[in-house]
Amino acid sequence: MWKNSIADEIARENSTRHFSSLLSVTQNDEDVETTTSIEQEKVEEQVLKLYKIDNEPVLMRSRHVAFLKKSLANMPEAYESLDCSRPWLCYWSLHALEILGEQLDEKESSKIVKFLSKCQDNDGGFGGGPGQYPHLASTYAAVCALSIIKTQEAYDSINRQGLYKFFQQLRSDDGSFLMHKEGELDIRGVYCAVAVAKLTNLYTPELFKNTEKWITDCQTWEGGFGGCPDMEAHGGYTYCGLASLVLLGKSNLCHLPSLLRWLVNKQTPLEGGFQGRTNKLVDGCYSFWQGASFPLIHAILSNQNKSQDDHWLFDQGALQEYLLICCQHPYGGLLDKPGKSRDVYHTCYALSGLSVSQTSPTALIIGQRNLNSVEPLHPLFNLSLQSVTKATNYFKSLPIPD
Ligand SMILES: [Zn+2]
Repeated sequence: MWKNSIADEIARENSTRHFSSLLSVTQNDEDVETTTSIEQEKVEEQVLKLYKIDNEPVLMRSRHVAFLKKSLANMPEAYESLDCSRPWLCYWSLHALEILGEQLDEKESSKIVKFLSKCQDNDGGFGGGPGQYPHLASTYAAVCALSIIKTQEAYDSINRQGLYKFFQQLRSDDGSFLMHKEGELDIRGVYCAVAVAKLTNLYTPELFKNTEKWITDCQTWEGGFGGCPDMEAHGGYTYCGLASLVLLGKSNLCHLPSLLRWLVNKQTPLEGGFQGRTNKLVDGCYSFWQGASFPLIHAILSNQNKSQDDHWLFDQGALQEYLLICCQHPYGGLLDKPGKSRDVYHTCYALSGLSVSQTSPTALIIGQRNLNSVEPLHPLFNLSLQSVTKATNYFKSLPIPD
């Protein structure tokens, strides 16, 4: 069976990998040096230096919490370029905190709800900042942030009637979604729309008519999904494509063998983390974008009675080592790769990937469980299980607008 043959290729060691074994998986450039191979060599050198020290991997929880709380309190100047992504800054920080088991107090939460309300357009949907045009990506971020806060004030601040109209305006007849009015079109739009619609009980079959067909047209010859039909396979778009198909109940339309083959080959053999595209460098954020597809595939295969595995089909221990040894900033926050600066985006998605890699049906936690264990997350929304359950329970009694 194709799946077993791939599974056999994957080492699943519940212990740290031996340094000597890493030397045997360094890049082979076949004597053709390119810009890409030189960059890869540099990354491998830096990563090997860190792995050679043989430190026990320890999650620096309190430093990450302090970094995230500070980022929430005063959006630093470094994030000025993200002025149109302010709901994202709220979501990244709040979600990273919930993964670490931290919740904000009522006063801080209420402040964020009031800020996000200012980002909400009068006609529905959330913009990247107060007074900005509504956008599907910032709408996903805002609704997720409000779901993490979980108060009635947070839930009731969402204009559901307007939100449904906003979705209708962005939908095209082929089932795809624009990111904003007269804006660009790609698979993120579909994911943001269907994830938010499911969370807030705004899902209707009419709103997503033909969408599954459009998504399957985005699956490429490589196996991963591109942003639009005929684009290159990419980790972020692949997550959006697969998660959307699962949310729409149409995962049977995904060509799973080629997707799985592409995905397992995106885990870099030496570094242990994931790359976003073929021949690209490892990056901590793809721990989630690529990693979260594995629990979804596991669920699909289990439903078809094709899997009884108690682990995901990638090397979960190697990913945890990459995140804990190579991606933690000594003063808190996580990063893309050694040498890069920390930021809340990478902190959120590196921690999300850490959670995914720990929470297979049989948990696999590298290092000391009491220090390194983080909260499980819902792989379809990238929220904690509790945030998803509470939001869906709250909204399920509310009517779906016409
Ligand atoms: Zn990244």
